[in-house]
Amino acid sequence: MTTQALLFDIKRGSSEDGPGIRTTVFFKGCPLACVWCQNPEGIDRKQELDLNGKAVGFWITLKELLYRVRQDRPFYDSSGGGITLSGGEPTLQLAFIHHFLKALKADGIHTAIETCGLFNYARFKEEILPHLDLIYYDLKLFDDFQSRRHTGSSNKIILENFSRLITEAEIPVIPRIPLIPGITDTEQNLSRLAHFLRKQGVEDCSLMPYNPMWRDKLKQLGKTAGYNRDSFLSPDEERRSIKHFYKAQ
Ligand code: SF4
Repeated sequence: MTTQALLFDIKRGSSEDGPGIRTTVFFKGCPLACVWCQNPEGIDRKQELDLNGKAVGFWITLKELLYRVRQDRPFYDSSGGGITLSGGEPTLQLAFIHHFLKALKADGIHTAIETCGLFNYARFKEEILPHLDLIYYDLKLFDDFQSRRHTGSSNKIILENFSRLITEAEIPVIPRIPLIPGITDTEQNLSRLAHFLRKQGVEDCSLMPYNPMWRDKLKQLGKTAGYNRDSFLSPDEERRSIKHFYKAQ
């Protein structure tokens, strides 16, 4: 369906999802199922009901979404901000986001996407890339077995797509690595990812500290967690991760 999208949130006034003041649009549905997912309500591709019987996810037309995000135009202009597509995985609703991004670019609004990297590269390059200014690209696990085990999917296409984008995209592609204790923050994983990035001349990378807030959201959905860490990353763990990552550079 191209004229409607399934979202689970629209966050106005965000300062965390790119430059300036932004509106972040959260698309529902993800091809991965990471055991630590920060937005578990964004994984399922359908509307769901939470334990209170409240609908999780809503359909919105392109016209309505454009109307809503254009309302903060003065803030984008004065702060160098814009719109960020997040999720879930926005590229699962590729036809819709093609039209959405195209309309935003026609308005001169800055556009960014947060992606897990599991998409059809040819379609992404043709329909999405020309309408983007910035890409945040999540890299989680270098080892394919570990990737299948903890995210539910092979990382082969994700790594390939990243390498192609780094070579072909004429906009910034910023890799982000979530630091998940015992899963992604191991010395082996961080040094292999650092090596992978270094080989491709990538210097800018964000390491994102673990946040356990997702656990409450998952409970609210009536689902059980497949990962038990319930505290934030400690300063020591964070320092250790940074050391593992930069030691390999
Ligand atoms: S890729 Fe992101 S949104 Fe999808 S399951 Fe993993 S953490 Fe959640």
